[in-house]
Parts: sequence; C-alpha cells; structure tokens
Amino acid sequence: MEKIINEEVQGTTLTLSKNEKSTRKLYIESYGCQMNFSDSEIVASILAKEGFNTTQELAEADLVLVNTCSIREKAELTVRKRLEKFNAVKKINPKMKVGVLGCMAERLKDKFLDEEKIVDMVVGPDAYKDLPNLIQEIDEGRNAVNVILSKDETYGDIAPVRLNTNGVTAFVSITRGCDNMCTFCVVPFTRGRERSRNPVSIIEEVNELWGKGFKEITLLGQNVDSYLWYGGGLKKDFEKASEIQKATSVNFAKLLELCALAQPKMRVRFSTSNPQDMTLDVIETMSKFENICNYIHLPVQSGSNRILKAMNRLHTREQYFELIDNIRQLIPDCAISQDMISGFPTETEEDHKDTLSLMEYVKYDYGFMFAYSERPGTLAARKLADDVPENTKKRRLAEVIALQRKHGLFRTQQHVGKTQEILIEGTSKKSDSHWMGRNSQNTVAVFPKEHYKIGDFVMVKINDCTSATLIGEGVDYSKNN
Ligand code: SAM
Repeated sequence: MEKIINEEVQGTTLTLSKNEKSTRKLYIESYGCQMNFSDSEIVASILAKEGFNTTQELAEADLVLVNTCSIREKAELTVRKRLEKFNAVKKINPKMKVGVLGCMAERLKDKFLDEEKIVDMVVGPDAYKDLPNLIQEIDEGRNAVNVILSKDETYGDIAPVRLNTNGVTAFVSITRGCDNMCTFCVVPFTRGRERSRNPVSIIEEVNELWGKGFKEITLLGQNVDSYLWYGGGLKKDFEKASEIQKATSVNFAKLLELCALAQPKMRVRFSTSNPQDMTLDVIETMSKFENICNYIHLPVQSGSNRILKAMNRLHTREQYFELIDNIRQLIPDCAISQDMISGFPTETEEDHKDTLSLMEYVKYDYGFMFAYSERPGTLAARKLADDVPENTKKRRLAEVIALQRKHGLFRTQQHVGKTQEILIEGTSKKSDSHWMGRNSQNTVAVFPKEHYKIGDFVMVKINDCTSATLIGEGVDYSKNN
C-alpha cells in the first residue's frame, strides 16, 4: 500500500553512488510526504555537483540536512528530537554543519536559528538552487537563511539523482505549491502558490527514466488535477495569459495523455487528486490508456457537508458521490483511496456518522486517516477553537480506521481468482523466494520468484489474500514485457 505519509520511510537516510573526486560528506534525512523525498533527490543532485558524497554515518558527516514536514504537530516534534541527536554528535564533531530544509524551515524561518541553536542553515522548498551560496556562507562561519517562495521555480531543469531506488518505480514532480487554502492545511504557507512544470521537461524525464530501465512513474503534486502549463507562471495568473498561451495550454488530462503516449509500456500513476479539481476528461483519459493505472487517491477529509464547508473543501458530499459514480462507470475496476481527518473543530457525532456513511458508499481500497492537529497560521487555527476533546478525536479516528480495515479487506478479496499483471519491484519482505510487486490498482502481490526478475511485468494468478496483500503464482510474462 502506497502511503502519502509513509511511516516506514520516515527519517530514511538517502544515499547515492560514490564519486571518488568528491571530498565532503553529506548526511540527508527526509520526513513527510512523497514530495519531500522527491525534493531530497533534487538537493542531492545539486550538492553532488558541489563535491559532496552521501554517507549513512552521521558521525562522519561534514553537512547534515534534514528535510522536514509541518503537516501535523507530531511531524515537527519528530524533527526536533532528531535535532537534539544532531546536537549531541556536533559536540564530538564541531566541524559538522546542520541545515533544516523543507516545510518546517519555511514555517519557522529564522526563528529556527534563535530557538534551535545547533542549526546553521535554514532553507525553504523553493531555495534549493541557492544551496551552494548558503553552504559557502556557513563555511565562512555565518548562519544562512533563504526561505523566499518563488512564483516560477519548479526545478524542471534539474535531473534528480534517484536515491535508494529500486530501479523500477520513480516519482516525477509536475506541480509545486497549492492554491486550495483548505482551512486545516499548512501547505499553501510552506510551499507557496501553485505553479506547473513545463511538459517538455516532464516528458524528457519520463523518457530518460524509461531509458534507464524504470517501468513505472508517479506524477507528483499537492493537487495534480490542477496542473496547467501556459508557458510558465502561477496558476492564479492564467486569466491574464494571452490568447495564444491559452490556446496552447496543457491541462492535467492532456499531460497524462502525453505521458501515456511517450512510453506506451510504462505504467503511469499520479498523486494527489483533489475532488474539486478532478474533471471528467481526466477519468476519460485514464479509461482510454491501458498504461495509466486504475488507481485514484482522492482525499475527502470528511463526509459532512457542514465540515467540508468549514474546511473550505469546495465540493459537497453529493458532488463527491457523483465523481465516484463517474469513476466507477468509466473505470469499473478502479481502486480509490482516501485521506480523512477526525475531530476537525466543531465536528459533532452527526458529522462523524456522515463520514462513516460516506465511507460505506465508496468502500475505499486504502485510507490514510489522521486526528485533527491544529497548525499555527492556518485559517482554522485563527478562527476556530480546537474544541473536540482529544479522547473523542481518538475514538472517532479508531472507528474510521476500523471501517477502512473492513473495506480494505473486502476490496483486496475482489482480486482473488483473477489473473492480473504485476510489476515486480523487489523481494518480498517475508520470503526471499518470493517477489513483491503491484497490480494496476496498487495492491501489493507476492508470488514465487521462479525465472522472473525485478522490473518484469508478469501475469499472476491470484489464489489467496491477507487484508492488504495478494498471494499468487506467475503464469507468464505480460504483453508489456
Ligand atoms: N493536497 C492533498 C489534499 O489536500 O487533498 C493532500 C495534502 S497533505 C500533504 C496530506 C494529508 O494530511 C491531507 O490530505 C490531510 O488528510 C492530512 N492533513 C493535512 N493537514 C492536517 C491537519 N492540520 N491535521 C490533520 N491532518 C492533516
């Protein structure tokens, strides 16, 4: 199961292959959403050119970078704990420099330098190209900060180095920032306004990945359906674009088609979709191309119209159902997953029941569920008291999770008895003699290795399942091999 905040990879140290000429050692740890992990690949690419090799040994690092997440309070507390650890190591190795990157850097800006005395450098998500200058500053003994948010930075011209890669699946960033202003969410403040990356550079990256043997890409953005390229600039300024810019603009449905056609055997996924921005043409494009996977991550956050409004989610539960119906009609075997927040301010038992009944309607394949965490500076924090008692939040969240488990098992069971194409990603965690891969719907499958290898597309007969894993046997290579 692919997670937006994947607990298993939080704090992963990223390594890239060693360049003998490089003399300095970089230790980089990443937290949060997939965008952050993708950004760390851009940072590593910039620093590789500055003479840095990555290391997994904190004690021997010349530069320690932590790419941070602000989405919930817990994420920030984890980073603060890590900074304490870095402080202890710095006492043994005083030459070591520490930099904070990403959303927490953007949110706290130079407060970080005052509060966390061990931090030498603070760099926001749009300032990574300035890292060489900032590192020079800290080398010369000064603290360095760049948290300027950009109107047009997409890092489209930087080829990310793939860190800790399986060589089969890769993320391709297509938009940065978010304009949606959901009242609970810190992202618009930490990642700035929404801008889209040039489709030419996206397709070049897709082709390069295919050339290197990758078989699946996930197009990444906070809100991919809102993708709009009209020659550069912010999404909100599209109205001011010239007639020719408007006529030649590329929206998300068109971009999906371009990617699907660029490499017809490459699997294409995308994340995240926002219901208010997902249009019928995206679903139609998905249904038209076999290599676009049948899986949509479609966060809803609540099933109550009153709470959706308070969250500034610009759709109703009825409109969400309509979207789900359209998806099921055009792509009957499409997997759908959710993000849900329990205990948003003013949420009543009635609102919570609406969430459970919405889940019953959709019967999501997967879900990522959270208790509301008040984030400073957001509209909800400014206007609404965090008034749902902690134990009520926890109880409601537990009910949401239990229902999701039931639905997840039901959806997994629907694959049993079918023969499906699985793309092999690696060895199964539980058995060295089995491969692990995913079907189009993103469900994990395991099957005996036999003569197959990593990166093969294999037709697998699904014989059994656990709640989230399909168990099968290889029948033959698929036609995509
Ligand atoms: N852009 C996507 C959207 O709005 O649907 C995902 C944004 S966020 C990186 C991933 C998830 O974190 C959200 O969908 C939401 O469920 C959760 N989240 C965001 N802010 C939160 C908060 N203040 N408290 C609890 N969960 C939160």
